[in-house]
Amino acid sequence: MSDSPHLDTAAVPSGSGCQECEAAGGWWVHLRRCAACGHIGCCDSSVGQHATGHFRETGHELMRTFEPGEDWFWNFRTESVVAGPELAPPLAHPADQPTPGPAGRVPTDWRDRIHR
Ligand SMILES: [Zn+2]
Ligand SMILES: [Zn+2]
Repeated sequence: MSDSPHLDTAAVPSGSGCQECEAAGGWWVHLRRCAACGHIGCCDSSVGQHATGHFRETGHELMRTFEPGEDWFWNFRTESVVAGPELAPPLAHPADQPTPGPAGRVPTDWRDRIHR
C-alpha cells in the first residue's frame, strides 16, 4: 500500500471543533477526524465541508467519526466504510458540545443552511 499516506495513530485531535470553522468563527453539524494527522473537520452536511476539503488538500483518505458513541471509519477515496486503527484519545468531541455546534454560534435557521 505504498500509495497510502502514513497514519500517525499517536497524533492527537487538532481540537474539539472543526479547525477551519473555529478559525473563521463558523459552526458545524458533525465532526470528522483525520486518521493520518488528527485534523478535525466538519462533515458534508456542514456549510464548510472541511473534512472533505482536508482530504482534497492533503490526500489523507482515512477519517474517523468524532461524534460521541460512534466508532466508524470512512475512506474518502474509495467512498466506503472501512476498518481503522486504534487512535490516540480523545475519540470524540466533548459530550456537552451540542450538535450542531458549537454553543452560541449556530444560527436559528441552521436547518435551511446545511447540505442535504
Ligand atoms: Zn468546518
Ligand atoms: Zn490529515
